[in-house]
Amino acid sequence: MTVKPLFFVCAAIFIVATSTPVNSRDNGTAENANTAGATDSTDSTDIAENEWESAILAFERWDSMNSFPADAVLFTGGSCVTHWRSRETFPRMPVINRGIDRACINDIISCAKRLILPYKPRVIVVAAGEHDLIQGRTADQVAEDMLALVTFIKNTLPASRVIVLSIKPSEKHLSLWPMTCQANAFIEQICDKDDSLFFVDVAGAMLDGSGKPNRSLYTPDGFELNAAGYKTWAMMLRPLLAMAILPARSPANDVGMSRSGVSPQSGAAYRTSYAPALYYVASKGSKIFHKSTCRSAKRITAKNRVRFDSRQQAEATGRQPCKVCNP
Ligand SMILES: [Zn+2]
Repeated sequence: MTVKPLFFVCAAIFIVATSTPVNSRDNGTAENANTAGATDSTDSTDIAENEWESAILAFERWDSMNSFPADAVLFTGGSCVTHWRSRETFPRMPVINRGIDRACINDIISCAKRLILPYKPRVIVVAAGEHDLIQGRTADQVAEDMLALVTFIKNTLPASRVIVLSIKPSEKHLSLWPMTCQANAFIEQICDKDDSLFFVDVAGAMLDGSGKPNRSLYTPDGFELNAAGYKTWAMMLRPLLAMAILPARSPANDVGMSRSGVSPQSGAAYRTSYAPALYYVASKGSKIFHKSTCRSAKRITAKNRVRFDSRQQAEATGRQPCKVCNP
């Protein structure tokens, strides 16, 4: 399968089907202080459409009474965003959280004019696609939808950088994991082709040594992330976010560039010059992790490869460092 045909379906970008009704209990500009009662469900048909509208209205009402930061980092996506205490996680960053519980990618697109555009964020972090798969979208369709979303953002906010997080595994929907891997691979290819797009594979770090979702990172329902899960995500996202938030050609940026040789504007440059120095790999069924450059690492097939952006993440899955490459 190839992702190339996806690029010929761009025409459908702005023609978005009527969105699936979703709801959200988040009405804070910068944080999801109130996600109580928000639950995962595969069934969104019982949620009244006006609840989706009311979620957006709640954001707009909040915005009319409060200011929101300029050059923000805006998180958007489904329940893994609404449950994320993203401002607490990144206290030094101007974070705005605009997740909608159970939102699919098309939901985000259909409300992007109200959910994303008003803030003109410098960085947009997208964590979506999980509910799409749960509701029966295929990996191809999810990738097409993600392409539509990032293309919409690029066309309407050309100065913004977009970070797409991979779709996480979950024990609750374990049967979807192979399709999730496919969707993630397609989405990574989309990001690889565009310098303004960054892809962070948070999914691999959610697996334990046996390749199953690591229970210690999830709430008891086996679906949502717990504090340790979000900590893992934050660890993977933080270095990239710190670079992406820098304005182009600022003195700070110049320092960053001279240290890492990377422009925060370039996702491809990040991946080729910077990411390889950071990442580690393991085979799904193996208790050993390697530097990505290790000969043993290169023998792991793409299908079985689990990726970590730090040593700590690899160790958090219970794996031991390889004695040859000594990661
Ligand atoms: Zn090794």
